[in-house]
Amino acid sequence: MADTETPLLSVRGVTVRFGGIVALDGVTFDVARGHVCGLIGPNGAGKTTLFNCLSRLYSYQSGDIQFEGRSITSMPTHDIARLGMGRTFQNLAMFRSLPVRDNIMIGAHCRSSAGFLASALRLPRVGAEERRLRERADEIMEYLDLTRVADRPAGDLPFGTQKRVEMGRALAADPKLLLLDEPAAGLNHEELKDLERLILDVQHKRGVTVLLVEHHMSLVMSVSDHIVALSFGKKIAEGTPAHIQQHPDVIAAYLGSEEQEAAHG
Ligand code: ATP
Repeated sequence: MADTETPLLSVRGVTVRFGGIVALDGVTFDVARGHVCGLIGPNGAGKTTLFNCLSRLYSYQSGDIQFEGRSITSMPTHDIARLGMGRTFQNLAMFRSLPVRDNIMIGAHCRSSAGFLASALRLPRVGAEERRLRERADEIMEYLDLTRVADRPAGDLPFGTQKRVEMGRALAADPKLLLLDEPAAGLNHEELKDLERLILDVQHKRGVTVLLVEHHMSLVMSVSDHIVALSFGKKIAEGTPAHIQQHPDVIAAYLGSEEQEAAHG
């Protein structure tokens, strides 16, 4: 049975420096199992850097990250991929010339039991595995209303549909934690409403915990159970959407960044 006491994700004092820039400065917060946690902050606050630490694209100079109570800090990257963290990327990371179905099957493959070597050698168990991946992809495509574009190259589709393919790739691996990096960017009003419904559905019906980096405040406020606010690499506040909306440091951080943009733009 899942341990409901231990946070699914625990970030403890994580610090990342790039030369003289401190991108994350001792950031600490937890993501409770079953929650949607919003991660907000003005441009350059360190949100993407934090995501990159979670998927270990970046290493951190100090601190620790635990997933289901286990430290991932010195875990090999291929083990992290199997832990159950799915991710979407700000600049869509799919194979543009491959059909939607293949993109989603590749997403499912990262947690499949037939290893890379078995697949490369096309051992008999791979046939059964491929069927399972295909069924999984079909189920995900139906869920995301992508069935009618299953055979189209992903890169030929409208932007909003490509974003659903990106989500499908991440969901196909059946993640416990879904990391969404600015899923609302570039979406129209109707697509935004669909995204909002989808995030809540993924949380409630699929039991997936979500960590959401997003600039679109009304989306973050409406779907998040808990919000963590960063500014210049530091956590400045955390709490419920109502608490964050009125927090003086959060308001000041956003006003400050608008003033900076006005001065430079
Ligand atoms: P945005 O909302 O604009 O995506 P963000 O909150 O995701 O911003 P990050 O991209 O994490 O912010 O950047 C935090 C700081 O770290 C910035 O000052 C950025 O320039 C710097 N930074 C991020 N990645 C690198 C890198 N690979 N090399 C050098 N500096 C980096």
